[in-house]
Amino acid sequence: MIETRKAAEEIKRAESLALACHIGPDGDALGSMLGFGIAARNHGKDVVASFGSPFVVPANLSFLPTDLLVAPSDFPKKPETMMVFDAGSADRLGELGSNAGKAGTLIVVDHHMTNEGFGDISLIDSSAAATGELVYELLELLDWEIDHQIATCLHTALVTDTGRFTYSNTKPETLRIAAALVEAGAQPAEIGRHVYEETPFGYLKASSAALSRAALDEERAIVTAVVTDEDLREAGIDWGDIDGLIDTLRLAEEADVAALAKVHDDGRVKVSLRSRGATDVGSLAAAMGGGGHRLAAGFTVERDPEEVLGEIKRMVEDFR
Ligand code: 5GP
Ligand code: MN
Repeated sequence: MIETRKAAEEIKRAESLALACHIGPDGDALGSMLGFGIAARNHGKDVVASFGSPFVVPANLSFLPTDLLVAPSDFPKKPETMMVFDAGSADRLGELGSNAGKAGTLIVVDHHMTNEGFGDISLIDSSAAATGELVYELLELLDWEIDHQIATCLHTALVTDTGRFTYSNTKPETLRIAAALVEAGAQPAEIGRHVYEETPFGYLKASSAALSRAALDEERAIVTAVVTDEDLREAGIDWGDIDGLIDTLRLAEEADVAALAKVHDDGRVKVSLRSRGATDVGSLAAAMGGGGHRLAAGFTVERDPEEVLGEIKRMVEDFR
C-alpha cells in the first residue's frame, strides 16, 4: 500500500518523530532514515533516529551525517509518532520492535517484496529500487527542500541498493531522482569513495580466508562460503566491515545463486543470498524465516552453518 498522502498528513501534524531502520543497517536503511530525519528537523520537528543492537554505524557509512542518532536505550519507549525505514517486518527492528509496538502512530516506509504490511500507515512499494526513492517522493509531496546533506543521504541509499545503478531494479525514475539529488549537492565521487573504495586491510585478510573455503556446486548453480567471528577477530575487523564480501562471492559466473553464511560466536548464522535472476531468493529466504527482494535476501537461524548451506543447495531448484 502506498499511503503517501496519509503519511504526509501525520508527519505535518506531529511535533516529534522517532525514526528507526533495520538492524545491521546498510546504505539504504541509514541513508533513507537520516535523509528524512534531517529534512524533518529542518522543518522544526523534534527528531531522534536509531537502530537495534549492535548499535554500530558501519565504517563505510560513517561519513553520513549521524548527529540525529541516539542509542536504542535512549529511544522513546512509547513514541507518539514513529517511522520505520527499510524494514520488511517488525522483527527486523531488534529491540526497537517493542517501541514500534507501543507507538501512537506507526508509519512504515519500505520496498521489500516480503513486507506484508505492519503499522498504521504504509508507504510500501516493492517496485521502488530503494527506500530512499520513497523518501524522495515523500519529501516532494511535503514540499520540503532537499539540502546537500539530505541529498547525500538519499543518493547513498540509491547507490547502495542498486549496486551503483547496475541492478535490474534501476529504472529511469531512479536515475532521474539520482540526478535531482546530485543537483541538490550529493557528490557521487565522494560517496562512491567512502562506500566502495575504502576498506581496512583486515577486510582483505578475512575475505581471502572466507573465499579460500568457498565451494561451487555447478550442477545446482550455487556458490557458498562461510565467514566466522574468528576470521574477523584474526583480521581485526567488525561485521560492518564485511558487507561487501557477498559481492565478491557472487562474481562466480557458474552460479546463479551466491549464499554467504556469517557465523557469530553466539550461535546465530546470518545468511546473505544473491541471485543473478533465475532464482527467487526472496521467497527462499522467506521460507527460511527471513525475507528481502527477489534478487537479494537473507535470513537468520541458530543452526550448524554447513547444514544450513546444504539445505539451501537442495532448495534452490524449487525457487527457479
Ligand atoms: P544482506 O544480505 O545485504 O544483509 O540483505 C539483503 C536483503 O535481504 C536486504 O534487503 C535485507 O533487508 C534482507 N534481509 C537480510 N537478512 C534478513 C533477515 O534476517 N530477515 C529479513 N526479513 N530480511 C533480511
Ligand atoms: Mn533497501
